Amino acid sequence: MSIAQSLLSIVLEEAGRHQVQRVTKVAVKVGAWANVVPSSLTFSFDLIKEGTLAAEAILAIEQMPAQGVCHACGASIDMAQPVFACPECHSKDIELTSGQELYVDHIEAE
Ligand SMILES: [Zn+2]
Repeated sequence: MSIAQSLLSIVLEEAGRHQVQRVTKVAVKVGAWANVVPSSLTFSFDLIKEGTLAAEAILAIEQMPAQGVCHACGASIDMAQPVFACPECHSKDIELTSGQELYVDHIEAE
């Protein structure tokens, strides 16, 4: 619920800044490792948006793939599954570079 709450406050703050009548769509990007279940985020958002400028807003969630990089050989690594060593050189000096993000990409409003 708290993620939906903070999304909604970002949206309402943005809506207030641009003096919109109503928000029609909220596009959110969620990393594969962000620990967010899109259906439950939508459910929570739909519950709390009632009575706000975003009451009719559709939450469009785009899931972002998880990517990593190996600091030893520079290989980029697909981290859709947890990876603990570089598939190229077997170094453990790897870092998750994307996949944990959760942010409002853009908002559509009238
Ligand atoms: Zn490597």
